[in-house]
Amino acid sequence: MTKDAYAPFTIPGAYAAAQHLCKEKIQTLYGPTPPAPVVERLDAEFALLDGNNLSSVYILLHHLAAHLGETGGKLALRGALGSTLTSFLLGITDINPLPAHDRCPSCGYVDFVRGDSGYDLVAKTCPICGGALVCDGHNIPYEACSELAQGKQVDTVDINVSASSWEKAVSFLVEFLGEERIACACEWNNPVCFMLLPEGMKFEDVTPVTELESPVCGVRKQTVLPGYELTPEMLRVILLPYDDYDRIRRLHRLTKTKPEDVDYSDPNIYQLFQNLDTCGIPGFSTDRSKEILQHCKDMRFSDLIRLCGMICGTGAWEDNGEILLQSHAFPDLIATRDDIFLTLGKYGVDSKTAQAVMESVRKGKFCEDTPENRKRAQKLLRAGVPVWYVESLGKIRYLFPKAHAAQCGKIAATLAWFKVYYPNGFYQVSLASMRAGDLLQYSDEALKQRLGKENASKEHDREVIALLLEVRRRQICVDSWGTGETADVR
Ligand SMILES: [Zn+2]
Repeated sequence: MTKDAYAPFTIPGAYAAAQHLCKEKIQTLYGPTPPAPVVERLDAEFALLDGNNLSSVYILLHHLAAHLGETGGKLALRGALGSTLTSFLLGITDINPLPAHDRCPSCGYVDFVRGDSGYDLVAKTCPICGGALVCDGHNIPYEACSELAQGKQVDTVDINVSASSWEKAVSFLVEFLGEERIACACEWNNPVCFMLLPEGMKFEDVTPVTELESPVCGVRKQTVLPGYELTPEMLRVILLPYDDYDRIRRLHRLTKTKPEDVDYSDPNIYQLFQNLDTCGIPGFSTDRSKEILQHCKDMRFSDLIRLCGMICGTGAWEDNGEILLQSHAFPDLIATRDDIFLTLGKYGVDSKTAQAVMESVRKGKFCEDTPENRKRAQKLLRAGVPVWYVESLGKIRYLFPKAHAAQCGKIAATLAWFKVYYPNGFYQVSLASMRAGDLLQYSDEALKQRLGKENASKEHDREVIALLLEVRRRQICVDSWGTGETADVR
C-alpha cells in the first residue's frame, strides 16, 4: 500500500469549525471589520490548511485548552506549529504572530507599527475612544510552520501543559476520543507520549498493543513498536508537564495580580536581565546564558526572544554571533529560524528559496559543503545578502522557531516582573515549586559545600541552592514557609 493510501489523523468537520472559531475571535479582538493584514493573514493560512490535517490537530488542542482553562490550567504548543495566527486565535498559544501593533479592545482601532515585537511598545491611549491600547504581535511568518507552508501532514505534536493539570489533560483525551483510540507510546519511561487514532479505527487494526498493568488516567493500552515507528494514521501527542505555568498562576493568586497587569515594555524587567539578577528565571541562570546576556545593551522584549533563540540554538552564538557582535548590532544576528526567512525576504529573495534555506539551516544541513548549498549561497549573494550573513548561516546546526523562543521569553519576562515587584512572593512560590524541601534546613556553609560536591551538580539542585543562598543574602524571611510548601495559593 502506498503512503498516500493511508488517511492521517483527522477530525471530521475540523476545518469549518476552526474557520468559524477564528472569525469569531478576530472580531472580538479587532472589531467587526478587522483590518486587512489580519484578514489576509488568516485567509492565506486557511488556503493552506485545506491541504493537510493541521486544522484537526488545532481543533483537538483548542478543546483541550478550553477544558483545562475551566480550572485555570494552561497549554501551549511547542515548536513551529505555534507560528500561525490560527493557533493564536484558537487559544493554543498566547503568542500573536502578526506584525507589531496597538489595538483597542473597546472600539477596534488598530495601528500596525514598525518594530520587532509589540511587547517592545509602550502602551498608549486610543486616539478614537481614549481607552487603553493593547500592544501585541511578534512578527512571525506562517512560512516558519513547514507543515503548513509545504502542505505536510502533521504526525507529532509537542505541548507544554500546566503540571497540575496533566492528569486532567490525559483524561480529557480519553473522553474526547474514546479509549479505543488512545494508547501510551512504548519507548518513553515516563508516560508523556500518547498515540491517537482517527475515528472508526482501533489500535489492533494498525499495530500490536499490550494492556497496561496500571492504566494511565484511563489509557489502558500501550503500543509495542518503538514510538517513532508511527503508522501514517497515528498522531503522536507529547504532553510535557510544565511547572512554570503553575508557578506563574500561583504568583498571580498570591499577589492578587492578573496576567494583563504585566507590562512587557517595562525597562525594570530588562534591567534585571542586564544586571544578571536572573537566579530563578528559567533558561537564564546558566553560565552560558549569562555570558550572552553580558553583550546585551538597552534590552527590550524582542532582545529576550533573540536571547532565547541564541541560548537554545546550536552554532548560533559560539564562533558565530559572539564574533559578529563586534561589528554588527544584536538584532542583525541570526537567533531564530524566522530571522532567516524575514532577512532574506528583505533582500528580495523569493519566499520559496528563503523557506528552503531556513529549513536547511535549522536541520543542520546548510553547513554541509554540497553543490546544492553552494548554488543556494551563490543565489543569496547575487541577491545582495552580505557575505558575513551567508557565512553565519553556514555555521548554524540548529535553531528554535521564533514562536517557541517568544513563548520562552514571555515566561522569563513574566517571572522577572514578579522578581522585580514582588520579590517575597517570587522567592516563596519559586522555592515551593522547585521543591526546595530539605535544602531549606541546610546552613549556608552546608549548601555551598553541597554545590561543590559532584552529586549535587545536577542543574536543578544547583538552581535551588543558588536561589536559596540569594534569599538569605537578601535577608528575606523564610521561617514562615516551613518546609517550603506554600499555603494553597493555586
Ligand atoms: Zn478605542
